[in-house]
Amino acid sequence: MKRIAVLTSGGDAPGMNAAVRAVVRTAFENEIEVYGVMGGYQGLLESDFISMDLRTVSNIIQRGGTILHSARSEEFKTMEGTLKARDVLEKYGIENVVVIGGDGTLAGGNRLAGTGVSVVGIPATIDNDVGCSDLTIGYDTAMNTVMSMVDRLRDTTEAHKRCSVVEVMGRDAGYIALNSGIAVGAVSILIPEVEYDIQRDVVDRMNRTLHYGKNHFIIIVAEGAGDSEKISKRIKEATGIETRLTVLGHVQRGGSPTVNDRVLGSQFGHEAIQLIKKINDKSSYALGYINKKIVSYPLEEALKIKKPMDMELYKVANEISI
Ligand code: ATP
Repeated sequence: MKRIAVLTSGGDAPGMNAAVRAVVRTAFENEIEVYGVMGGYQGLLESDFISMDLRTVSNIIQRGGTILHSARSEEFKTMEGTLKARDVLEKYGIENVVVIGGDGTLAGGNRLAGTGVSVVGIPATIDNDVGCSDLTIGYDTAMNTVMSMVDRLRDTTEAHKRCSVVEVMGRDAGYIALNSGIAVGAVSILIPEVEYDIQRDVVDRMNRTLHYGKNHFIIIVAEGAGDSEKISKRIKEATGIETRLTVLGHVQRGGSPTVNDRVLGSQFGHEAIQLIKKINDKSSYALGYINKKIVSYPLEEALKIKKPMDMELYKVANEISI
């Protein structure tokens, strides 16, 4: 019987559990034995395995986080660490590893692949910043969480005629900010991919909206777009409008996954096993969701794919938010 391992790594993302469940269930159907690795690559180094069967993944599809836990491992990033991980896999007779996480996790998988282990990577990060996939597990839930939080904030912002600056996740990527910003009717959206000028892109826009009778404002700032506290102060100084900063933080990671994230996770998990059935050498792949289809790329190629920001959407945001 073929034996594989599955792990979740990097920041947790709602829908990871759906992917783990689909891996285990599809593997069972295909008589493949699955070991779950607890705590990402660090758990792999420590041989922290659990044996998974149909029942270990019962009642998890609706849960956020990851039942396999996640971690960041500096040790794994070293050459000794990667080789140690390979030795552990060899010792346990594990032929393939499914790694579920963001671009760091996929890069880690590629390192492991370099030592002769067959790896299948599944893109999962709330940031959606994985080049080989239009969508990543967790992104849809995170956007919906931001939207519902800002909807609540809007009520009080409007009641007090304030400006609310909302910092959302996205150190290098503005996908959450742009999409949730449109969904909450933000006056201005600041993202790391686009250079901005506070006077032109925030203050002048607020003054224009004021002129047309609006007296409450939502400004969305991706965390990588600048110091949101300084941005808030500048807005207050330049407009005289009471401006409050809300940092949504880790609340954006949690919660029950949306339909889209449950389905995407299930599709990715299922496809990972279909691919593993076909692999009879030591090759490695990353899955992606492109034009509404699940696709696979050789892992090394997948890591080179860049995903440009949707500038058309950015333009839409600018034109409808006055
Ligand atoms: P997210 O961006 O959502 O937090 P991620 O998967 O990008 O997810 P990282 O912390 O970047 O999160 O990576 C997770 C783990 O993958 C790291 O702790 C490390 O063990 C491993 N890893 C990341 N980059 C590399 C690399 N270049 N080489 C080897 N291992 C890596």
